[in-house]
Amino acid sequence: METLTQTTISVLNPIINRELYTITEPADAELQKAFATAKAVQQNIADMSVSERIAEMLKINDFVLKNREHIIDRIVEETGKARVDCLTSEVFEVCDVIDHFKKVTPKILKDQPTSTPIFLMGKKSKIVYDPLGTVLIIAPWNYPFYQGIVPGLLAFLAGNAVIFKPSEVTPLKGLWEKMLQESGFLKDAFQVVYGGKATGARLIDLKPDKIHFTGSVRAGHKIMEHASKYLIPVDLELGGKDPSIVFDDVDLERTVNGIMWGAFTNAGQSCTSLERLYVQDTIHDKLVAMLVDKTKKLRVSTPAVNYKDPGSCDIGAVTAEFQIKIIEDHIQDAAQKGAKILCGGKREPGSHHFPPTVITDCTHSMKVASEETFGPVVAVMKFKTEEEALRLANDSPYGLGASVWSKDLKRAERVARKIVTGNVSINSHMLTEGNPALPFGGVKSSGFGRYKGDVGITTFCNSKSILIDKQGSKIEPHWYPFTKGKYELLSNLMDSYFARSKNWVKFAVNGLKVDSIGGKEKIK
Ligand code: NAD
Repeated sequence: METLTQTTISVLNPIINRELYTITEPADAELQKAFATAKAVQQNIADMSVSERIAEMLKINDFVLKNREHIIDRIVEETGKARVDCLTSEVFEVCDVIDHFKKVTPKILKDQPTSTPIFLMGKKSKIVYDPLGTVLIIAPWNYPFYQGIVPGLLAFLAGNAVIFKPSEVTPLKGLWEKMLQESGFLKDAFQVVYGGKATGARLIDLKPDKIHFTGSVRAGHKIMEHASKYLIPVDLELGGKDPSIVFDDVDLERTVNGIMWGAFTNAGQSCTSLERLYVQDTIHDKLVAMLVDKTKKLRVSTPAVNYKDPGSCDIGAVTAEFQIKIIEDHIQDAAQKGAKILCGGKREPGSHHFPPTVITDCTHSMKVASEETFGPVVAVMKFKTEEEALRLANDSPYGLGASVWSKDLKRAERVARKIVTGNVSINSHMLTEGNPALPFGGVKSSGFGRYKGDVGITTFCNSKSILIDKQGSKIEPHWYPFTKGKYELLSNLMDSYFARSKNWVKFAVNGLKVDSIGGKEKIK
């Protein structure tokens, strides 16, 4: 195991920048106990029918519905989110995911009979979905509830026990225990372990059967390297730098409203925030003027915000001070390289409340247009042609989300297909994530693996192949003994079956001969 470097971690309320409580890095014995308990319960989960597992999941749904105000209070307190952001993307979406998977999981996990080639005539083939065992979920701070519960429930539905490490920035300590106890969810099936990076690493050393990681590219590299030591499969849901391409035939008002939401929702702290905005030159100035005008009207939270009032602000706080430093560094770098900051750009000293910022005249040499900013900042650039827009959008190490805006849906879809990314929304931003039937994940430095969609369940399974022979007396033609006659027959069979124009008569004759070998040529 890695050495423990930190013993207590302070959890802050970013709205008022004050400590809420501390968490302590757990001792080795506590981690071992979590694994042992998860392993002990896992066989029970595997033995449950899919509908029994769904019934457990629905207990969480009931808890979330009943306790949503308390859950939102807890999340807002630790993240500083605007309350509406919290309701829609943390709580509403959890229920939506549950609603989808309660309907589709029985079909996804049902044995899948599949075709069997003619050379294996008489046999049957199928795929069955076994659980993997224990799944370690490591979550980030930007959607602390959703990013834990959604992969956790999908892994559970697949028959696994879950070990969950929330982010040390937003652990929501106590909420998980309350949910598991009060909902009556299957005891021990969801183990929560609090701690920082070192604890995440120590959990990997306990060799879970799979790791589902959501977080930064930097940590993704480390986790993959660490997991490779034990050959643990990993899904990496990493960062992004989403491009958005706006053509000049759009409804400007709607598009600007959509862009603002895509860039500033959750104070820009979404892996698929709209961070790079490419606008066709013919409407660039008009769009920018409208965007700046509307952005200035957004209400930013303050330390005095009444966070219980969902109408009190549009833009919540930035959760972590270290993230504000990155945001400020990107803005400063852009300004130094000639970009224009048309609104926002500065916070009150020491405050976590960062005003939404629109920057124009950006180039890809600026950090704000090439590295993940993860704050309420949008970098605007111009393009002339579709080809140029695509070249710019694809000029990024990331590939997580994207959006294309145009009334010409043929063009929009053509462009969407050519963007190298995991998800594209047309005439909206980030909305693929609102559909639990669509797989979510990235390409390039944004990671790999998908969750949600049908693959969101099977990613937590051992997809096992079974081929069944009814057990007659004949042996297979390719079994021993190897003879020249057998070789020639099989070779002729290839010519009669795999040639572009099949010779069915020859195939039938050769097929019968091959079949009869199985009855005659055996090692006795
Ligand atoms: P982070 O990588 O710093 O931490 C994420 C989690 O990993 C935390 O729980 C942390 O304790 C743990 N961790 C860090 N290093 C570790 C290590 N070496 N071994 C084991 N565990 C380790 O990320 P963050 O700052 O919490 O989250 C922000 C990042 O997450 C952004 O880059 C964002 O884009 C990304 N993100 C991606 C998605 C997605 O679905 N692709 C969703 C949300 C956030």
